[in-house]
Amino acid sequence: AAKPLVERLVVVGLGLIGGSFAKGLRARGVCREVVGVDLDAQARRLAVELGVVDRCEEALAAACQGADVIMLAVPILAMERVLGELAKLDLGDAILTDAGSAKGNVVRAADAVFGGLPARFVPGHPIAGSEQSGVEAANGELFKRHKVILTPLPQTDARALQRVDQLWRELGADVEHMQVEHHDQVLAATSHLPHLLAFGLVDSLAKRNENLEIFRYAAGGFRDFTRIAGSDPVMWHDIFLANREAVLRTLDVFRDDLDALRDAVDAGDGHHLLGVFTRARVAREHFS
Ligand code: NAD
Repeated sequence: AAKPLVERLVVVGLGLIGGSFAKGLRARGVCREVVGVDLDAQARRLAVELGVVDRCEEALAAACQGADVIMLAVPILAMERVLGELAKLDLGDAILTDAGSAKGNVVRAADAVFGGLPARFVPGHPIAGSEQSGVEAANGELFKRHKVILTPLPQTDARALQRVDQLWRELGADVEHMQVEHHDQVLAATSHLPHLLAFGLVDSLAKRNENLEIFRYAAGGFRDFTRIAGSDPVMWHDIFLANREAVLRTLDVFRDDLDALRDAVDAGDGHHLLGVFTRARVAREHFS
């Protein structure tokens, strides 16, 4: 067999994302050994039982011994704590990467705890997921034909970047590189704002309608628009706390446009409404 790309991969956080990353690479024989770390004993046990990892460790220090690549896939608000623990260890030549849905906060946390950004830190974000969470939902094919955005910094080591890029490609992902700030602004607009609107709309209707009777009349449009309101509330609360500035910028712009739509409805301005709906339909045809 060909020599594995990575001798020892350590995945910290064996949920949907960390579990899927570990399982997919392990199934493809990309790593000689995949070691899992999780705070939750049940997740550690299941990860071994389900073949997601070769073995698990409770302690980060034990797991990271001899690691070549360390993937952090813990909730965003836990990243700083885990990075802080890693900063106290001798990581040798290990490459550090993460899968957090917002990048600025993770980069700032790494900068703070390591006293400057380590050259072997490659921040990343897979644009794939599902409404499920936990290691039971781990799926080695999750990232196939999905985008993964890596946000290298000027000091990022080119070989570390290339290695992380290669691992995602092994999983069938379509990898792109982007600046941290650009990533956070783009994701605020295309992912975070829509989630806020879906959660907000469903809650706004639900809290005014006892027995949720109103949802009996919901048609396909409502179902499609609000599917993402079924996502993990804790993960999304993390994301809005982590990406506040970018979310606020995109939310304020959208609020102005929403006000203009409100005014058009109020004034019976069909010209404005038709203009918005027509431009939106044309723009929407650019993706399927
Ligand atoms: P998850 O809830 O399925 O799993 C998180 C795991 O981390 C759990 O098993 C939990 O026990 C463990 N954990 C928590 N704190 C820990 C700590 N301090 N040390 C070790 N383990 C710890 O979450 P997920 O959906 O896999 O998300 C993980 C990361 O991936 C998050 O940063 C999230 O922003 C990002 N992400 C999620 C999605 C998605 O759709 N779910 C998509 C892209 C990126």
